[in-house]
Amino acid sequence: MTAFDTNLEKLETLLARFRTDGIPNRIAGGDVAGSGGVFQTRSPVDKSLICDVARGTAADIDAAANAASEAFVTWRDMPALERKRILIRVAEGIEARAEEIALCECWDTGQTIKFMSKAALRGAENFRYFADQVVQARDGQSLQSPTLMNITSRVPIGPVGVITPWNTPFMLSTWKIAPALAAGCTVVHKPAEASPLTARLLVEIAEEAGLPAGVLNTVNGFGDDAGRALCEHPKIKAIAFVGESSTGSLITKQGADTLKRNHLELGGKNPVIVFDDADLERALDAVIFMIFSINGERCTSSSRLFVQDTIREEFEARLVARVEAIKVGHPLDPATEIGPLVSEEHFAKVTSYFDIARTDGATIAAGGEVVGSEGYFIRPTVFTNATNEMRVAREEIFGPVLTSIPFSTEEEALAMANDTDYGLTGYLWTNDLTRALRFTDKLEAGMIWVNSENVRHLPTPFGGVKSSGIGRDGGDFSFDFYMEQKHVGFATGQHKITKLGAL
Ligand code: NAD
Repeated sequence: MTAFDTNLEKLETLLARFRTDGIPNRIAGGDVAGSGGVFQTRSPVDKSLICDVARGTAADIDAAANAASEAFVTWRDMPALERKRILIRVAEGIEARAEEIALCECWDTGQTIKFMSKAALRGAENFRYFADQVVQARDGQSLQSPTLMNITSRVPIGPVGVITPWNTPFMLSTWKIAPALAAGCTVVHKPAEASPLTARLLVEIAEEAGLPAGVLNTVNGFGDDAGRALCEHPKIKAIAFVGESSTGSLITKQGADTLKRNHLELGGKNPVIVFDDADLERALDAVIFMIFSINGERCTSSSRLFVQDTIREEFEARLVARVEAIKVGHPLDPATEIGPLVSEEHFAKVTSYFDIARTDGATIAAGGEVVGSEGYFIRPTVFTNATNEMRVAREEIFGPVLTSIPFSTEEEALAMANDTDYGLTGYLWTNDLTRALRFTDKLEAGMIWVNSENVRHLPTPFGGVKSSGIGRDGGDFSFDFYMEQKHVGFATGQHKITKLGAL
């Protein structure tokens, strides 16, 4: 029996429970049917039905927000070391069920086991990392003035809403939920409608680890219904959102009446710039990895390649040869490098860019075709002879699709890299140190890597500028969002108080 066969067999066993029970909402530690009935979730691998999912509406969000509000004081006031122990047990629970999480994620989203087994473990790492910050999260400063001893501390903001997308949904959910819980907040999670399976596993693991009922609540459903209600709910103090830039605008509008604090992690059209003095072997590996791993469905993907004209011909030729050799296939086959796109809607969007590229005058140098009709598979695609004005260079396609654009000078590369609505990440390949310093100083992006692909270090700030978002995650930056600064001033003597009405 091959590893692929074993994975398929294990998946069958795991899916049986979802087929029987569906996925209910989880509110205040209990399973609750959706007040809007159910919707169906299907696998992009073969379009088959996975299970029914509770369709949450404003009524379910209200119940979950009330549960989170009631649980807040208990969770906030629990001794820090006890909260830390629970979060570590969540990390251990994720590790123990990492294979189950990875298999379900692959079937639900089309992501490959090659990448999802690591993503599940990264979810555990997120919990472990923020568990370690629990004790000092409340710490503040002592700021003496001539008449006062001023102290600051941080307190959790209250119940928060977490709204997540369908790309690597388990890992991304933990990236938001772990710091929120570590800060002392309670959570209502609204997972993406296209990927409900692993959000259910997460809340189960958290409760088994000892998280009190109501501290983490999961309400499934659609964005313009359950999602909107979460943004509008007066008991929810903040929304941590990951998704499209246009949805980010809606989140802001919907939260206006309740003066919601919003953290927005949005889209990207990230540049990778390759100069002719770079280590071209490593640059090629990184260019390919950063757009074709995780099905290209990653916000930090480098979807625009700017390659210096002196090396363009050879670099593009080697790129195309490698891309043509990428293995597209069943996500549970360990050899597969690219699985199907997440849904019919997304497949239609991504494949529409094949014609858009042709119409705009680009060349399809690799891919540009669908694979079979059983699921939503496409070949990894490279557009060449493109300009930065074409739609394939301006719009976030969010699939395994790369647009290659030549440049001749550093100034030209910088101008084109910055000529975009987005500003999430940038990747620079050069062995000229002074140029790297100059270029990174001027590149408009929240995160830049020089001579490296995206390698996350959890204490560093994660987030974008321009239409790519507002706010930062990671390390202590996460606590700035989930906590409020509080100041208390103690008089140290009898300082003069201006007397009014005392002539
Ligand atoms: P999306 O914006 O369509 O949906 C994201 C979530 O928002 C879903 O749960 C959805 O139900 C919900 N939603 C939709 N409309 C809503 C509304 N009116 N009110 C409240 N919630 C609403 O995004 P998607 O297609 O699921 O995910 C892909 C996008 O996410 C891409 O643009 C990608 O770049 C972005 N993303 C960004 C980051 C980052 O860190 N910057 C990370 C991952 C993904």
